[in-house]
Amino acid sequence: MHGSEWPAQGLHVDVLRLDQLHPVVSGNKWFKLQHHLAQARPGSPILTFGGAWSNHLVATAFAAKERGLSSIGIIRGEAPATLSATLHEAKNYNMQLEFITRQQYAEKDQPAFQQQLLHWFPSAYIIPEGGGGLPGITGSEDILRLTDTTTYTHILCAIGTGTTFMGLVRAASPGQKIIGVPVLKGIDSPAAVDPSSLLTKQQTARSQLLPGYHFGGYGRHPQPLLDFMNRLYADTGIPTDIVYTGKLFYAVIDCIRKQFFPTHSRLLIIHSGGLQGNRSLSSGKLDF
Ligand SMILES: *Cc1c(COP(=O)(O)O)cnc(C)c1O
Repeated sequence: MHGSEWPAQGLHVDVLRLDQLHPVVSGNKWFKLQHHLAQARPGSPILTFGGAWSNHLVATAFAAKERGLSSIGIIRGEAPATLSATLHEAKNYNMQLEFITRQQYAEKDQPAFQQQLLHWFPSAYIIPEGGGGLPGITGSEDILRLTDTTTYTHILCAIGTGTTFMGLVRAASPGQKIIGVPVLKGIDSPAAVDPSSLLTKQQTARSQLLPGYHFGGYGRHPQPLLDFMNRLYADTGIPTDIVYTGKLFYAVIDCIRKQFFPTHSRLLIIHSGGLQGNRSLSSGKLDF
């Protein structure tokens, strides 16, 4: 936790530093994986999906190895001449890497393709991209049980698949507002995150999205975002990542400046980790 007051606004702001939870399985990925791994039969390989800089792949490779399970990573795109630092690390944790084309990758959740995968990798336990699905959501509920979080009026997180966000919404108390900042273009209502209506009406009522902070879309990180991340680090010592948490912190501070939060609000920002992804940047762009 990292506390600070915004006296001009009468706000109290804390950060739940999930980035400091574990050196490899950092942030929300640890929570999203727990129930998935518990459901896998002993001896079944764990199979999952991701891109070249996926936080989820490294986390899964490490967590599977730790439990004595083998793992398979289905990677988006042709095999590169040299592996990204992320894929190299996943491979070091014994993950078997299988590259598929982007067209094939787009089919990864289709029943026919999943059958094909089970034919190639019999008895594999398939974890959706990003550790989603109901086990990922229920695992994320535990984030709010790490410490007493009931005193906060607003809980804020980044949204990729929305799995973490849905877990937080389900675990929150009735009076709390859960605010998600989508890092992709085109996600602008809780319904977009919850297409199969897993949330109750009351739960949806306590959730809200802040679209407009995606900086051009998933993975985009224009210079103003990097400048902001460097400034945030200089001011608070908090490192953020270019895909998720940099955009989250930018959104929160922008909203504080615009007096979005009522006086005396108590904010809890979920730092969901992901710092390893910053290795995709050329060196010297970030001060940390
Ligand atoms: C994966 C990830 C997210 C997105 O989580 P979802 O549950 O997919 O919304 C947020 N922050 C970080 C650092 C991540 O690695």
